[in-house]
Amino acid sequence: MSLPRQLHNTRLLELWPAWLLRARRGADARLLSGARWLLRHKADRRYLALLDGEGRVQPLLPRAALAPDLRCAIAETGLPAAPSGPPRPLALDGLEARLQALGLDAASYAARSGLAPVPEPDWLQLAGRDRWRRPLWLHPQAAHAWHRMQAAALADGIVLEALSGYRSHDVQLGIFARKRARGLAMEAILSVNAAPGFSEHHSGCALDIRTPGAPPAEEAFERTPAFAWLQAHAPAHGFTLSYPRGNPHGIAYEPWHWCWRPPPAMPAQGILVSAR
Ligand SMILES: [Zn+2]
Repeated sequence: MSLPRQLHNTRLLELWPAWLLRARRGADARLLSGARWLLRHKADRRYLALLDGEGRVQPLLPRAALAPDLRCAIAETGLPAAPSGPPRPLALDGLEARLQALGLDAASYAARSGLAPVPEPDWLQLAGRDRWRRPLWLHPQAAHAWHRMQAAALADGIVLEALSGYRSHDVQLGIFARKRARGLAMEAILSVNAAPGFSEHHSGCALDIRTPGAPPAEEAFERTPAFAWLQAHAPAHGFTLSYPRGNPHGIAYEPWHWCWRPPPAMPAQGILVSAR
């Protein structure tokens, strides 16, 4: 049986291929050796249970430590089937209430930013590792386009590295919660981060890109040969710069943030970012 290379995504849980984590978690090596999947809680990123090749669940935390909805979600999780088609969007249920808890009204934010809610896909493709050797998850077609673009750049002597790809609503909510806890005003956060549920990273089609020798995710990236290469060649690979200077969404200039969209001639296969 080949090793799984997908992240399976549900409202509360992510299913991670166990082999991806095996090397890092020496203390849990015995447990992990029999596991095929790891169930991770999206909200706090804790690993909750293992799933073996027969679909048997082995909890990693005592049942009493888990909220009832999590216990249910774990009990309902079976072995994921290999994807038979493009990813499908997960429902956006609960997003409005979670934004409300942050003090944000989803409808008025959508109206003033011109951004639409971005559902998460129900599965993502492993697209290698990011700059910190973490698994990089992308929409399968974006992953393919990214690898082609990276190879084309390298052939021209340009090294492109991924800083980050897919990000869940929960991760974006966590970013906001931490910044709020540090005392940052909501408007200040919204000038650099799209509201949770509205980031292109939720689709698995957006990538933050860096190149060696330039600080990551800083405007200085625009003065690198890598940025000049991207400006000239990224559109041919389906990637466009989402937040140029003076963009209508009120988001700060991000020369490192590129989003893949299908070419007009290609039928949209489960693509979750609407073309602008
Ligand atoms: Zn980005």
